[in-house]
Amino acid sequence: MTTLAFLSANLDFGYLLPAFRAEFPDADLRTMADLGPLDAIDAAVCWCPPAGLMARMPRLSLIQSVGAGIDHLTADPALPDVPVCRIVDTDMASGMAAYVTWAVIHGQRHMGRYLASAAAGRWEEAPIQPPREHRVGIAGLGTLGLVCARALMALGYSVRGWSRSPRELPKGLEGFHGQAQQVEFLSGCDTLVCLLPLTEETTGILNRDLFAQLPRGAHLINVGRGAHLVEADLIPALDAGHLGAATLDAFVQEPLPAGHAFWRDPRILVTPHIATRTQPAVIARQTRLNLERIRAGRAAEVAVDLQRGY
Ligand code: NDP
Repeated sequence: MTTLAFLSANLDFGYLLPAFRAEFPDADLRTMADLGPLDAIDAAVCWCPPAGLMARMPRLSLIQSVGAGIDHLTADPALPDVPVCRIVDTDMASGMAAYVTWAVIHGQRHMGRYLASAAAGRWEEAPIQPPREHRVGIAGLGTLGLVCARALMALGYSVRGWSRSPRELPKGLEGFHGQAQQVEFLSGCDTLVCLLPLTEETTGILNRDLFAQLPRGAHLINVGRGAHLVEADLIPALDAGHLGAATLDAFVQEPLPAGHAFWRDPRILVTPHIATRTQPAVIARQTRLNLERIRAGRAAEVAVDLQRGY
């Protein structure tokens, strides 16, 4: 009998259970409400699991994140030494591309202004710039960043990307990598999209020094993690004109507290961490495939490198 435990300190996993019951018809599915004996658990399905809990599961052979990121796992200093897998999903990638494309267009084509004029019944035109003249920089050229880059290039935007290491890129995508090329990359980003994983190196990367290296008036889109952004640096950068606007989908504290200054600033567009999602059936299927591979002595397909942090 396979036993799966659904572990989260802040998320109700009820929405996942029907899909897991379909994918694992003979398994024992345990939730935080009743984990039962910890020494029976084979795999942990996680989002922000309580620290130290998995270290008490001697039979554990898989830690499965329900999202693309694993930063919520690396925060656990007692994480056991078993494969950690994340979700890589074409629907999640196309959902992210749709959100990022919308956010780029919303900024570059002044849709905020049109919404305000329409609400006031005013016919007011803003300048129209061809996409080719607008440079979009994507920080993080992984499974999501590359799909966003392709979608924006298909619309004619001038797209550049930044990764940690050099990589082969689709034709037309200008690549930069590493610290050495960061300044050059940033200097050509009229819009900067953050699609980095949250690691020691990238925590707080969206800060006032970085904003000062962007072209004046740049639009920041953060669809990575809240802690990529030094929140206290954002409004001063908008006031100083280093940034012209920000579209934020992830926050240090979620939900963003009601009194937070970001809600009240018309230059900041807040969305509630909805850039993209993975369907429960995909999470359940990837969990089953990972567990089967591990049991067959093979490497799980989307295992992450904990040393690297993503
Ligand atoms: P990947 O792991 O596939 O890609 C990460 C990319 O970031 C790689 O290109 C990597 O470089 C680059 N990178 C990592 N560290 C650095 C660094 N220090 N400097 C420069 N580049 C770096 O991630 P995904 O594309 O799958 O996901 C990206 C992030 O998107 C997730 O970690 C998550 O935070 C966020 N996300 C947000 C969602 C939302 O709804 N808002 C939903 C899903 C994900 P290299 O190619 O050299 O390895």
